Amino acid sequence: MGAPIYLNHLEKQESLDVLNYQVRSCERCRLSLTRKHALPGEGNIDARIMIVALSPGTKENLANRMFVGPSGKVLEKLFHAAGISRELIFMTNLVKCMLPGNRKPEKNEIELCGTFLDDEISIIQPELIAPLGHYAARAVFQKFHSDAPVRFGELLQIDGQKIYPLSHPAALLYNPSFETETIEKYKKLKTFL
Ligand code: SF4
Repeated sequence: MGAPIYLNHLEKQESLDVLNYQVRSCERCRLSLTRKHALPGEGNIDARIMIVALSPGTKENLANRMFVGPSGKVLEKLFHAAGISRELIFMTNLVKCMLPGNRKPEKNEIELCGTFLDDEISIIQPELIAPLGHYAARAVFQKFHSDAPVRFGELLQIDGQKIYPLSHPAALLYNPSFETETIEKYKKLKTFL
């Protein structure tokens, strides 16, 4: 990522409006054939924290909103336990279209769609980026030229950017026994600001 050009609220909104239109109409990769909606990021454009998830799920694809399905319910619970209001955060996905059958993203899909994430980071200029899950964390690390191993709950400062990888809330749907440990990691989000 290059040096940021600082934008005021209005400039951010105008830049996002252009970017979001590009995302919604994008046909760069074959995921455009199976999606209903391509989801740009949403939330507080002046947020200090940006959450980067992997991709919209089935419910999100239909509803055209992020985190409205089962993972969203877990995320709400984690935010609530950590004392974090969703209204204070900007959320986006690494891959903006649903991955059919929850399959893994392909390298070219991450590369093609990742440029939208680059632009979102440049516009929002978050103090801290919290990628959720391994794919999002790896992609964010690479954007800042780091090949550091992904360790959930470990804060990194790369090229002046705070990056705090967290496990994806969907992981708790399969392994609820990690809930207490995960909440403790989410709680730290606030302390870094
Ligand atoms: S996944 Fe990204 S690159 Fe592919 S069609 Fe959707 S918005 Fe475009």
